[in-house]
Amino acid sequence: MSVPLDPNSWEGRAMHAVLPAFSDVTTLKGRGPLVLDHGEGIYVVDVHGKRYLDANSGLWNSVAGFNHPVLIEAGCRQFRRFPGYHTFFGRMSDVTIELCERLIAISPFESGRVFLTNSGSEANDTVVKMLWLLATHQGQPQRRKILTRLNSYHGVTVAAASMTAKPYNAAFGLPLKDFIHVDCPHYWRYRTLDESEEQYSQRLAERLERVILSEDPTTIAGFFAEPVLGAGGVIPPPAGYFPAIQQVLWRYNIPLIADEVICGLGRTGVLWGSERFDLEPDIIVASKCITAGYFPMGAVIVKPSVADALNAAIAEQEEFAHGFTSAGHPVGCAIALSAIELITTGGLLENIQALSGQFESGLAAFASHPHVGEVRTAGWMGALEMVENKETCTPFPAALRVSERIANAALDVGLICRPLGQAIVICPPFIMTAHELHTMFSMLADTLECVFDALAHSSQM
Ligand SMILES: *Cc1c(COP(=O)(O)O)cnc(C)c1O
Repeated sequence: MSVPLDPNSWEGRAMHAVLPAFSDVTTLKGRGPLVLDHGEGIYVVDVHGKRYLDANSGLWNSVAGFNHPVLIEAGCRQFRRFPGYHTFFGRMSDVTIELCERLIAISPFESGRVFLTNSGSEANDTVVKMLWLLATHQGQPQRRKILTRLNSYHGVTVAAASMTAKPYNAAFGLPLKDFIHVDCPHYWRYRTLDESEEQYSQRLAERLERVILSEDPTTIAGFFAEPVLGAGGVIPPPAGYFPAIQQVLWRYNIPLIADEVICGLGRTGVLWGSERFDLEPDIIVASKCITAGYFPMGAVIVKPSVADALNAAIAEQEEFAHGFTSAGHPVGCAIALSAIELITTGGLLENIQALSGQFESGLAAFASHPHVGEVRTAGWMGALEMVENKETCTPFPAALRVSERIANAALDVGLICRPLGQAIVICPPFIMTAHELHTMFSMLADTLECVFDALAHSSQM
């Protein structure tokens, strides 16, 4: 099936010059990378003129589609006014201040402070350093351990990758010491027989408490959690999970950091995943949707008491010895202000709320498919967990690469969706209309039919 790539084609040149991020090598060799020229609404167009409906909003982030005039104009206007400045040595651009104020205003906190970065990974690393600084300042230098959940995704820099509890990080010799991984809250996969969701959540909270006690609570600096596990395969928390976990954390004075990089700014149907799933975080990390994918940006938002403690620690050091050269970039901030406005008052959040029933029922319709083991949704993020045997929840043999096959077949019909383990992830841009949602689901149905027909005929199943 695979033909050698012409070395002068975009695809061939990519294979010679680019080290692609998180890309399946077999697929790259087989069909080459997808090289894009431009975007139109929810579609991206490749260098050959073929259009693809991007059901993944780029990488969860392009929530306003790929050529939104308001965002483009906001960026261009700021480029003409003041095209770049840093945030070191007490200097910063005016729009940087405006954005920080805006982020606090829309956060669940009454007040607080914001630290800007260029990415979600940098924001998570920043929080780890904040927690360690606080521990040192408070005379508790032993308080260094960071708790996260198995299968969570917090990024790729060294601390964030140590928090990301995925098997692939073993190849890098990670996690670093002091990064501890606790249970993944996936009820469908890990419950015991006859256990209700509430009982399962309670059991995980008890197991968390046991880990905390065996590690020594005075050595734990913080617990990070995504409200909905995103790159873990879209796993919403089971009923009662965060309230139960939160009680344990409060008992031992362990801060909760909500990694809202995916959930923040509307993805779950409300502004913050924390609101929807009952987290009461001390610190919030946001990134992907802040600029709707039109500029690199991450943000750490801390609640007032954490801000006070940080200010005291920083005063002792004379400065916060931390910062990224291009963070708080005025163009990014101008775009972010515009994106936040589009989401909050410009109709984007309203749109996904209005169409959430259609999104949920569209995905739920796949539950009757003989190879869909579980359908998961939370707002406009969803996943179909593919299984070989539905009764026993048995996955396909890994060698079959079933979700990779589905994602590739989807490309053939002009749909971009993402394989994750043996699940297929759907997280469309917030600007999608009812008609476009319908088109997306029918393309997905065609894709599944095509893949499972082919597998049945090749007797690989
Ligand atoms: C994507 C992601 C990150 C990392 O963000 P980058 O901008 O890729 O560094 C962190 N946490 C979560 C939950 C993410 O989905």
